[in-house]
Amino acid sequence: MPGTGKEMLSGSTIAVSETNRLQELRDQIDPINLDILALLNKRAEIALEIGQVLQSMGTVHYDPQREAEMLTALQYANEGPFSNETISKLFSEIFRATLALEEQDARQTILVQRKRPDQHTIIEFDNGLRLGNDSFEIIAGPCAVESYEQMDTVAAALAERGVKMIRGMGYKPRTSPYDFQGMGEEGLKIARRAANKYGLVVISEVLDMSLIPMMDEYVDAFWVGARNMQNSFLLRALGKQSKPVLLKRGFGATLKEFIYAAEYIMASGNQQVILMERGIRTFSQWTRNTLDISAVPLLKQETHLPIIVDISHSAGRRDIANPLGRVARVSGADGLMVEVHPNPDVAMSDAKQQLNLDQFNQLMDDIESIGGRY
Ligand code: PEP
Ligand code: MN
Repeated sequence: MPGTGKEMLSGSTIAVSETNRLQELRDQIDPINLDILALLNKRAEIALEIGQVLQSMGTVHYDPQREAEMLTALQYANEGPFSNETISKLFSEIFRATLALEEQDARQTILVQRKRPDQHTIIEFDNGLRLGNDSFEIIAGPCAVESYEQMDTVAAALAERGVKMIRGMGYKPRTSPYDFQGMGEEGLKIARRAANKYGLVVISEVLDMSLIPMMDEYVDAFWVGARNMQNSFLLRALGKQSKPVLLKRGFGATLKEFIYAAEYIMASGNQQVILMERGIRTFSQWTRNTLDISAVPLLKQETHLPIIVDISHSAGRRDIANPLGRVARVSGADGLMVEVHPNPDVAMSDAKQQLNLDQFNQLMDDIESIGGRY
């Protein structure tokens, strides 16, 4: 039947030519993909250069105004078939990816950033204490200096356990101006005397840059409290000092803000910075703050600075200090900070979280029983 034969022939001819057309169209798509890829990467390279120029001008990378202008221009030029909405979504994604790349690139150039896996800052003190050195060190002492007897008792207990750094706050940042504000310079003198007697180094909070010259006479390292983490004038002033600076994370600070605060100190010339995670504010009501333990491995990954975990202010309660201490020990941190007072119940500040000497010794036993490197 010629008719049927002809139809069959024409059917298969159509099938063959459709397959060819499909292949031909696909062959057109593949190089377009490669063109888009090349253009995206070219765009990214130019954006990185823009980022570097902006950085040298001291300006932030994200410019919402510029982004809005580019989107408007694209919508104006768009002839379809993609809708303007789709074009906006696609380009917004490109902008987002570019910004992330610029930020990553900018971080590579900051001093805080770890550049090689084996880059570690080790901070050494006169009495042999080394922070950031694979060992796990303890910083301990009362919340505030209250008397010589108090500091002497604590210093003796610390030295007995091999602790090399005592905290002794002369100035206390308190919520209420009517609460005990610290003994001031007198307290620092006491801390220094007690520390000298037992071969300890002293660290104390510097609440204001005007206090730096006076405090320099008594302390071995400066301490920046959570409330002052973003006080750029104070950070810059400490960046001009030759003694190490311990920087606490603000209770509302992201890790990015935290490392940039450290950058202020380093960029001003002082490379000896110690980071301290001290808990952040969350909806949790059973602790004073929430210990963000994930900050430890993340900061270790991003920075080369020593990281210490404050197990006292993060929880605000002594009954869980011990498990938090053990968690800190295995977190990869370089040490922990704990408040210790001969008689915490009558402490002038932070009475609920300070450990008595027995509790401190128990904590030390438990931490020492955990071996290994983390
Ligand atoms: C402190 O360590 O005594 C203190 C006041 O801590 P923070 O600054 O973290 O509140
Ligand atoms: Mn305290």
